[in-house]
Amino acid sequence: MAKTGTKGVWIQLIAILAGAAAVFISCRSGDAVIETRFFLGTACNITVYSGGHKTAVDHAFMRVEEIEDRMSVNIESSEVSEINRNAGMHPVKVSADTFFVIEEALETSKLSGGALDITVGPLVETWSIGSESAHIPVDAEIIGLLSLVDYTQVVIDRIKQTVFLEKKGMRIDLGAVAKGYAADAAEKILKKEGVERGIIDFGGNIRVFGSKPKEEPWRVGIQKPDSMRGEYFGIISGGEMSVVSSGTYERYFEAGGVRYHHILDPETGYPVQNDLASATVVASEGLRADALSTAVFVMGLEEGFRLLKTISDAEGIFITEDMKAVLTPGLEDRFVLTDKSYTITSRRTVPTQ
Ligand code: ADP
Ligand code: MG
Repeated sequence: MAKTGTKGVWIQLIAILAGAAAVFISCRSGDAVIETRFFLGTACNITVYSGGHKTAVDHAFMRVEEIEDRMSVNIESSEVSEINRNAGMHPVKVSADTFFVIEEALETSKLSGGALDITVGPLVETWSIGSESAHIPVDAEIIGLLSLVDYTQVVIDRIKQTVFLEKKGMRIDLGAVAKGYAADAAEKILKKEGVERGIIDFGGNIRVFGSKPKEEPWRVGIQKPDSMRGEYFGIISGGEMSVVSSGTYERYFEAGGVRYHHILDPETGYPVQNDLASATVVASEGLRADALSTAVFVMGLEEGFRLLKTISDAEGIFITEDMKAVLTPGLEDRFVLTDKSYTITSRRTVPTQ
C-alpha cells in the first residue's frame, strides 16, 4: 500500500498499471490510500480518498476475489466452470452474482444482435490469445466450434437461479463483463464502509465514484489505442461514472503481419476486423459499460454508434484506425481532445464507415 499525504493539492494519478481505458485521473483530495492486487487476469487498482481506509480497500478486494472464484473459467471450482462441465446435461444453480452477470450479458447480446456473446468460450480457448499457446486455428476447427456459439442456447431460470447450456461442448466465458461487475461490487463495499470517493481501475476498466468537491469533476483519460499504456488522447469529465474501453491493442499476437487480438466476432470465429482501433463506453454502471464496450467494438462504428444512441445512460467514443475520434452527442461537452494528431468527427448523426 502506498499512502500519499497531499492534502489540498491536486493529485494526479497516472494509472500506468491500467490496460484498456483510462490512464489519467485526477481530483482534489485529502489523503489517499492506493492499493493494487492481481485478480480477474489483470492488475486491479483501488484508490480511495475521503473516508478511505485500508480495511475498506481490503474488504473490497475480498469481494473481487469472491467474484473471481465464482466466475473465472480458469478456476475449476467456479460456478462458470460447473455450468460449462454440465453443458448438454443439466442446469446448475448459481449465486445471485453469477446469475445477474449472465442475465445482463444476455440482455446486451439481444440488444447487440449477438455481437456480445458469452458462449464464445470454445473459440476463446482455441485461440488462447494472451497465452503462450496462442495460435491461428485451422478453418475447419473454427467452423466446427461456431456451432457451439449461440447465446440463445443459454437457458436461465430466475426462480430457481439456474443456468443451463443446451448443447454439450458449449462454454461460457465472462471475460467481457466480469471486471465491470467486480468494479460495481467493489464500489458498493467501499461506500458501505464509509468511503466517500475513489477510483476503481481494474485493468483499465475504470469506475470513479463519490461526491466531487465543488466544480471539480472527475477527469478520466482515454488510452491511445496505438501507444504504450499510460498515454491518453483525450479526457472525459463528469461525476460518478464507469469508463470502459475495448480494443485491438489489449491482448494480441502477430503472425504474417496480421494482428490477432482477443475480441472475437461470434459470426466468423475470428478476431473482429473492422475499422475500429477501440471503443469506449461511458455509463452509470460498470457492468453495463463493460458489456456495451465489447458489444459496440464488435458491431463497428456505424452499428455500434446507432446502438449507443438508443440507450439513454450510455455514451461512447469510437477511435478508427485512421485516428478519428467519433463521439456520441452526450459526450460533446464532456470530452477534450488532448492529442491533436487525432481528429473529432461527426457527432450527431450515425456515421458511415
Ligand atoms: P478486456 O478483457 O481487455 O477488458 P473486453 O471487455 O472487450 O476486454 O473482453 C474481452 C474478453 O471477452 C476476451 O478476452 C474473451 O474472454 C471474451 N470475448 C471475446 N470476444 C467476445 C465476444 N464477442 N462476446 C463476449 N465475450 C467475448
Ligand atoms: Mg467488455
